[in-house]
Amino acid sequence: MVLAATYYDGKTSRRHQVTLEVQGDFALMLGELERRCPLSELHVSERSVHAQRKVTFPDGAYLEVGDSAAFDEMLARTGHQDGLVVRMTQSWLHVGMATVFTVAILWITYVYGIPAGARAVASALPQGVERSIGIGALELLDKRFFKPSALPATRQRELAERFAKMRPPQDGAPAYRLLFRASRIGPNALALPSGDVIMTDEMVKLAGDDEAVIAVLAHELGHLHERHLMQRLIQSSAIAAMSTLMFGDVSALLANVPTALLDARYSRQVESDADQYAVQMLRTNGISQDAMARVFERMARYEGKFDMGYLSTHPPSAERARAVRATPP
Ligand SMILES: [Zn+2]
Repeated sequence: MVLAATYYDGKTSRRHQVTLEVQGDFALMLGELERRCPLSELHVSERSVHAQRKVTFPDGAYLEVGDSAAFDEMLARTGHQDGLVVRMTQSWLHVGMATVFTVAILWITYVYGIPAGARAVASALPQGVERSIGIGALELLDKRFFKPSALPATRQRELAERFAKMRPPQDGAPAYRLLFRASRIGPNALALPSGDVIMTDEMVKLAGDDEAVIAVLAHELGHLHERHLMQRLIQSSAIAAMSTLMFGDVSALLANVPTALLDARYSRQVESDADQYAVQMLRTNGISQDAMARVFERMARYEGKFDMGYLSTHPPSAERARAVRATPP
């Protein structure tokens, strides 16, 4: 039995047309790329109405199989069983882990409240999970909200190089990759858990000068440093987070990404933390915090001209501009 599938390396969005078959205890992938992997090391996504079935390799690369019916048949022949409950009861380890995680999360929630619990879980998540969520989120955003950037490549490189030269304000700065996109959502910048920082052309234009663009990027790096988006995803869906931890299946968490990202109303505290990270980063590099304040002032004027609806920022831009300008040395 041979099935057509699409292979992704898990790092880029490039697709490779391949075929998938099972030989003994191994899955064999042939076509544009070839791989052989023990069945026991593959992870098969849950069956769901909307999504194609996904087979993930230990290194994060995955296959998407279009023909679900044929795939189910292939799985049945290999003795694969679906369903969290079936698999959980099969494995005492998972049951044990589930209990430990449940107790740990309940305890952390009880002692520190949900935000701190979410922070603890966010920093305990393996990096592979954050990467998968980020890659999935980027694909989704590219499909629905972004178009290729219209900024000349030289200008993109100039800004990227300028930001790359900036020293971070503290140790342990997150790795990031800067991407430019034109958007249907106006001036915006986002940081995905994978480290992808997306800057819209409209934001570059609104920022007005290079130092202001750098300030926006520094703010996003602050969100990455604190893992704000992951915390938010976890907070909004503790159950999905647990299944991600236990089974490495990120689809449940991924489902919350668009809302979490586009309803950009992070809490006041989270935004001001990222603002402060940006201010410290600017200062570390001899740039005045006014660069950050300028962005918020321009944002406030922009918001005055357009009804931003649910994209309106929280706290209001004018207030953030004042707070940034007033940051004591
Ligand atoms: Zn922010």
